[in-house]
Amino acid sequence: MQNKVDSSIVKNIISLLETCTESFAFVYDIAADTFFISERTLAHYDLPGAQFSGAARTIITFVHEDERVRCSGDIESIISNKKNRIKATYHIRNRYGEYVSVEIRMLHLSVSSRDIVAGSIDPAEKHPFFEDENLGSERDAQFDFDTARMDAGALSGFAMQIEVDNLISISERVGFEAGNEILSIVADACKRQCVDDTKAYLFSGGKFLLINFSGGSVDEIRRRYSGIKQSIRDAEYASGYKRVFTISAGGIAFINDTSTLTEILAKLVFTVDFARKDGKDMLELFNAREYANYLRALEIESAMRDSIKNKFEGFTLLFQPIVNAKAVGKSNSEKLSKIVVGAESLLRWKNERFGTVGAGEFIPILERSGLIVPVGRWVLIKAFAQCAAWNTLFPELYVSVNISFVQILQSNLVSEVQIALERTKVNPKNIVLEITESGNIDDEEIQSVLAELLALGVKIDIDDFGTGFSNLRYLQDIHANTLKLDYTFIQKALTGDMKDLKIIEFIVGMAHALGMTVCMEGIESYGNVEKLLPFGPDKFQGYLFSRPVDARTFAKENLHT
Ligand code: C2E
Ligand code: MG
Ligand code: MG
Repeated sequence: MQNKVDSSIVKNIISLLETCTESFAFVYDIAADTFFISERTLAHYDLPGAQFSGAARTIITFVHEDERVRCSGDIESIISNKKNRIKATYHIRNRYGEYVSVEIRMLHLSVSSRDIVAGSIDPAEKHPFFEDENLGSERDAQFDFDTARMDAGALSGFAMQIEVDNLISISERVGFEAGNEILSIVADACKRQCVDDTKAYLFSGGKFLLINFSGGSVDEIRRRYSGIKQSIRDAEYASGYKRVFTISAGGIAFINDTSTLTEILAKLVFTVDFARKDGKDMLELFNAREYANYLRALEIESAMRDSIKNKFEGFTLLFQPIVNAKAVGKSNSEKLSKIVVGAESLLRWKNERFGTVGAGEFIPILERSGLIVPVGRWVLIKAFAQCAAWNTLFPELYVSVNISFVQILQSNLVSEVQIALERTKVNPKNIVLEITESGNIDDEEIQSVLAELLALGVKIDIDDFGTGFSNLRYLQDIHANTLKLDYTFIQKALTGDMKDLKIIEFIVGMAHALGMTVCMEGIESYGNVEKLLPFGPDKFQGYLFSRPVDARTFAKENLHT
C-alpha cells in the first residue's frame, strides 16, 4: 500500500508552482485518487472543488466527450508510469460551461515512495485572435438584432453559422498563422455574401454568422452556402492549393419569429454540431424535432444528475427471469412450466416531471454524459446484494448485470466489480456481466479488462448479438459464458424466411462449438418456443415467462422452495 501525500504539502507545492508561472498548477495523489488545485484554477474551470477524490474518474467528465477516451488513456499511462511525462491538448469546461482548448502537462514523480502526478493547465489559445474590421462583432450582432426587433416586432429571415472544420488541429499542426489565413479566406467569402440586407459577423473562436431580416428562405440559405463554398474554392485555386480546408454550416429560416438572438444562436450551434457529426463539409438545416429531442435529453440529464445527488432517488432495478430452455413445457391444463436459472437486472428511472422514461432513452444519455459510471456502480451493488440474498436459499441462481462500454472506458470497472463483490459478499460464480457486442470488443485494452474480470470469478455474457455489428471473429477470444441473441434478431428470424432461421441454426452451432451456451431473448409466445426449440437453445428470456418485475415479485413468482 502506498503512502498518501500530506495535503498541506501538496497545497504548498501548488502555490509554489503558481508563483513562478502563469499556468494553473495541479497535483494528483495516486494512492488516494485525489486531485488538488488552487482556488485560482477553480475560479477558471468547472471543477468540483479545490480538492476532490475519485479523481481519475471525475476528471474525465470535464473533458469534451470526443476526447475522453484519449484522456483516459493518457491518465492511465501517467499513473502507471508507462510514460513519465505527457503533454496533450484537450477541451475542458470553463466555469461558464464552455469547452475551451487547454494544454495539459503531466509529470509522474516518485518522492520518497509516494507517487504523485504534478501538472499544469495552460489556455491553448494564447495567440492573437483573428480579427477583421469589416465584419461585425458579437456585440454588433446583438445591436443589429435588437434594432430590427424594435423596428419590426417579429422577424422573418434567415441566419447561418459557418465554422472551419478541424480549425484547432490545423492551427496546432501547421501553426496559428495558417489558421488565421484560412479564417481570412472564409471572412472574405462571407463578406461577398453581404448583399440584399445580409450582414456578416465574426464571433470568438472563429465562428462566422450571416444574418438577414428581410424574409429569407431555406433556398436562400442554400444559395449563400454555395456562394461561400465557391469563394473558398476560388481562393484555394488562386493560392495554388496552399490551403485546402472544409467548412460546416448550420442554417435556420424564420418567419414572424420572436426568439431572442441567444435562442437563435443556440439552435445554430446545435445545427452546426449536427453537420459535424454527419461527417463535416456540409450545410445542415435546423430541424425543430431533433432540437426538441436534444433539449429533452439535456433536461433529462440534469434531472438524472439531481437523482444521483439525491441518493439515486427515482432509480430502481427490475429483474427478468432467464429460464432453462430444455425444461419449458405445457401441462395438460395448458399451464406453462419453467425452471428459472437466472435473473437479468434491468435499470429503470422515474421522475416527477418526465414520468417513467424508457431504458432505450435514458441509458444513452447516462452513457453520453458519463453518468453511467456512478449509476453503474450503484447497479453493481444493488444487483450483487440481491443475488447474495437470493443465494442463501437458491445457491445456483445467478444475476446478470448489463455493463456499458463507457463503464469500461471511463472507470476502473475491474476494481468496481471487486469492491461490489467484497461489499455484498456474493459468490462471484453467481454473477454474470452482460457486455454488449460492439465494434471495439476486440480492442486489446478491452480484452485485458475482460480477462481481469474473468479472473475475479464472474462470468461474461455477450448481449444483443445480432444487432448491428456482428463480429464472429472475436467470440473465441472472450471466453464468454452465454451468447444472448437479441429480441429484434429473433423476431426477424421468426417472421422472416427460411434463410433467417438458417442463420440462427448456424449461430447456435457455432456458439456451442466454442463452448458457449445460447440464450434467446424476446420470447413472447409459446409458438415462439416451439419454433425455436429445434435449434437447440439453452436458455430463453421474454415476456412469455415474465416481464421485468421488482425483486419481491420476482421471488414470489419464480422462486419456490
Ligand atoms: P438488454 O440487456 O438486451 O435487455 C433486454 C431488453 O428486452 C429489456 O428492455 C427487456 O425489458 C426487453 N425484453 C425482455 N423480454 C422481451 C420480450 O419478450 N419482448 C420485448 N419486446 N422486449 C423484451 P429494457 O429493460 O428496456 O432495456 C433495454 C436495454 O437497456 C437493455 O437491453 C440494456 O442494454 C440496457 N440496460 C438496461 N438496464 C441497464 C443497466 O443497468 N446498465 C446498462 N449499462 N444498461 C442497461
Ligand atoms: Mg442485457
Ligand atoms: Mg439483450
